[in-house]
Amino acid sequence: MTVFTSFCFEDRIQELNEELSGLAAYPRERFLEILKEVGFECNLCGKCCTRDFNDHAFLLVDDVGRVNLLDEAALIPAPYFEFCDQAGTFYVSGYAIRANHDGTCHFLENGRCRIYGQRPRICRIYPYMLHREEDEAGEVEWRQISGLNRHGYYHSEVDDTECGRIWEEVNDYEASFLKQEIAFLEAVKAHFEANGLKHSPMAYDRHMRLFERGGKIRVNVFHNGQFVPRMVTKKDY
Ligand code: SF4
Repeated sequence: MTVFTSFCFEDRIQELNEELSGLAAYPRERFLEILKEVGFECNLCGKCCTRDFNDHAFLLVDDVGRVNLLDEAALIPAPYFEFCDQAGTFYVSGYAIRANHDGTCHFLENGRCRIYGQRPRICRIYPYMLHREEDEAGEVEWRQISGLNRHGYYHSEVDDTECGRIWEEVNDYEASFLKQEIAFLEAVKAHFEANGLKHSPMAYDRHMRLFERGGKIRVNVFHNGQFVPRMVTKKDY
């Protein structure tokens, strides 16, 4: 997540739309080639379900309803709120899964996911997340596979059917993520314009200091095209 100091909605929305086009143009064959070359195989170590590996598990809109039915207490506004208006209300593009105080996921039990069959989409695609990054030559390209060599087995055989399934799920996840971010920015822009609000870095810092000291803050969480107000404290994180 990006925390913004000054902000032009149109520029950021355009950047994200360009990323979306870049994703659509990313060659499937290239991704499959890299998948096969890396040959990642899960060894059930459970490390990816801890903060040591992943700061938080961000949820897409369709994950939220499912997680909510399983355990309402697992949902928190995703950390790193992007905006704060003059009145001190923060805005964030979605929910995340709560972590325990030892950094393990709320759903991790004896090293296993207790909602494995219904786990969120980010957990289904991990470690094949895509990021737009520059290579050594400064060329921007989509890169994949997180936490390389820190967990799992490598150079295993991954068959064509499995590679195809991973590609479909990763591509779909990344496109949904970008669309959720774009919809969020459009909604914040419209909300600010309709209510005479704007992003205030000063209010952001002031209310973040309150939060850091244990105070309650209000966060508008973007969900299904609307903002859902939530009150949170540092203890929720
Ligand atoms: S929901 Fe399950 S798979 Fe996802 S991080 Fe939590 S324990 Fe791991």
